[in-house]
Amino acid sequence: MTQEEFNIPDFAELQRLLTASCDKAEVHRVLQSDRIGISGLAALLSPAAENLLSQLAARSARITAKRFGRTIQIYAPLYLSNFCTNRCAYCGFSADNKIDRRVLTMDEAEQEAMILHGRGFKHILLVSGEAPARLGVDYLAELAMRLRNRFAAIAIEVQPLEEDDYARLFAAGITSVAVYQETYDRRIYAQVHHAGKKCDFDYRLATPARAAAAGMREVGIGALLGLADWRLEGLALGMHLAWLRKHYWRTALTVSFPRLRPAEGDFQPLVKVNERMLSQLIFALRIFDPDAGLLLSTREEARFRDGMVGLGPTRYSAGSCTAPGGYAHPELTGEQFSIGDHRSMQEVCADICQKGYDPVRKDWDATFQIKDGGGAMSAASL
Ligand code: SF4
Repeated sequence: MTQEEFNIPDFAELQRLLTASCDKAEVHRVLQSDRIGISGLAALLSPAAENLLSQLAARSARITAKRFGRTIQIYAPLYLSNFCTNRCAYCGFSADNKIDRRVLTMDEAEQEAMILHGRGFKHILLVSGEAPARLGVDYLAELAMRLRNRFAAIAIEVQPLEEDDYARLFAAGITSVAVYQETYDRRIYAQVHHAGKKCDFDYRLATPARAAAAGMREVGIGALLGLADWRLEGLALGMHLAWLRKHYWRTALTVSFPRLRPAEGDFQPLVKVNERMLSQLIFALRIFDPDAGLLLSTREEARFRDGMVGLGPTRYSAGSCTAPGGYAHPELTGEQFSIGDHRSMQEVCADICQKGYDPVRKDWDATFQIKDGGGAMSAASL
């Protein structure tokens, strides 16, 4: 059980913290420090750091090289279902939208996975809308059992679950859980989540802790950029990360920075987040937490992703399709959003190699997860 719950200060309080740290001399001081803390993170996210972006990039690159070497881990999403009972204003899968809906049969899901396997992927992320009656824990457990011997790591990005469910899925072969808060600003959260279980801000906020408490090897958090002030989202992400590190130090943590992409429903971003802002956010979080895996997905364009190799991110998706069944049938519609980087996995890997980095397709083995009798054990207990 989770002993204590994570709470996020309201954004007015975070703004006061940011304003108090907005000082160029403080940014210079933080860039020389080994451990920077929340006020240091606030300085790096503040407007005072905007004109020092190259110094932030250099520091972030040094830390990333020291902790991760010259590597970028590669993965692909596998969309299982676009049914969703929630009404999120910004998402193509929202129950409000009239799109072609489908949930893959177990055989279809396995076929999609084997296409990715054939393309060389060893790490996959199973994704679905939030409709537990159509795609629940039984489905995920059965699929994981079918795939666990073919993939080195299987992650999920599905509806928030209970701790017991996560423990069952870990035993079935799922190693990681990604659950993004979307926005840590309660006011904006209420504004863009119109109906469905996702309206419960606190239940979602406590989900990463439930997954970690269940023994998941890795937990991912994130904010959808374009909903609320990106500097304050960055501060909230840093606080969440620090809290999870303190309470679940055995669990590896990742952070994702999805920027809003065009999707069915014509939702327009509420705030602007350009590539320069996204870069500042990534560098600041890398300097704040040297060990966090930082994801940069195909939402971003190839030019930007290539430019960020070595500067902070450690994990790239590649060759992605966001419509269920879209790898076997590229003509299918019903995607969650349109992607920005259309290169194949081979092209992404070739461009990473050209920059002198190794695209890594496997950094974990399922045998670490098996103990005598077929049950699961955490990596930390090996
Ligand atoms: S963001 Fe997630 S929960 Fe919201 S509509 Fe899209 S798939 Fe459903």
